[in-house]
Amino acid sequence: MNDVFYCPDCSSKLEVISGCGSTSYFCNKCKKLISKTKIVPHEQLVTKIDEKAVKKLSSE
Ligand SMILES: [Zn+2]
Repeated sequence: MNDVFYCPDCSSKLEVISGCGSTSYFCNKCKKLISKTKIVPHEQLVTKIDEKAVKKLSSE
């Protein structure tokens, strides 16, 4: 099963590039590699969106 990760900047799905023993993540929208420490797993992305929605609601 493949894990899906998202860009911390634009929340786009990242492309996984597996090399010799290491894995890289590339964002097609930002056209750049994302460090493994910065990638956002799906559960976290959902939480992020929820927080944003709550903030927006409370400010209106
Ligand atoms: Zn991006």
